Amino acid sequence: MLRFGTSGIPLTSARPATEHGIRRARELGLDCLEMAWVNGVRMKPESADRIAAAAREHRLELTAHAPYYVNLCGADDVRERSLDRLENAGALASRCGAHSFCFHAGFYGKLTEAEAQRRVLDGLRQVTARLRSRGITVDVRPELTGRVSQLGSLEHLLDWCTAVPGVRPCIDFSHHYARLQGEPNRYEAFRAVLGAVRSRLGDAALERLHVHVSGIEFGPRGERRHLPLRESAFRYRELLRALKDENVSGWVVSESPEMEDDALRLQRAFRRLR
Ligand SMILES: [Zn+2]
Repeated sequence: MLRFGTSGIPLTSARPATEHGIRRARELGLDCLEMAWVNGVRMKPESADRIAAAAREHRLELTAHAPYYVNLCGADDVRERSLDRLENAGALASRCGAHSFCFHAGFYGKLTEAEAQRRVLDGLRQVTARLRSRGITVDVRPELTGRVSQLGSLEHLLDWCTAVPGVRPCIDFSHHYARLQGEPNRYEAFRAVLGAVRSRLGDAALERLHVHVSGIEFGPRGERRHLPLRESAFRYRELLRALKDENVSGWVVSESPEMEDDALRLQRAFRRLR
């Protein structure tokens, strides 16, 4: 089953709290919600337990997005804080009952490709080891990022997932499109991405895939800003057809500024496919 939902609490939620967002998402007929912890997260364990209970009650599946302040390629102190933030986000996501959490792995800065890759791989090994040692089994998912200054191309993701057990990809198709100057924007290109995931990571990777979609504007360096789907040239209908034809299951998170409207637009368009 492919579940559609918002990144963050729906705009029409009665109150700006995750439990209310979960209830609202269910009223709207959505099936998942991504907790957008992009500006940091402070949460008491009891709050996480309440979120987990609300998600169970409303049969909504949760994912999480770890804070933007993560750079596994940074200096030692930055790396250490990044590892702590990722461990904390993974632990909280798990306590909330989330299945998966995603994050942006890091920036090149002045590093060479080889050194940047070495630091990311080392960071991913440390994060998965820390979570494993605490018995936490939430999916650890570096995201396909939208700017060329960031690590996280499709190829990077597939390499990391192959090299580090326990790491799975978060495929952001809009970032992929923006990173490559709008080129991968047809059914065949979307199908090729999914085919690459299947051939490198196996069928299981498509039976449990974390996907992001949004309208997007890009420039020479990639992503500029997210847009509503109908204001963007991104061909989301062709993406949905590719997801259907590859029989993908998992979570499709709308990162559009028109949050629930676009999540529902995606869900309706997907359900109309035969
Ligand atoms: Zn992201």
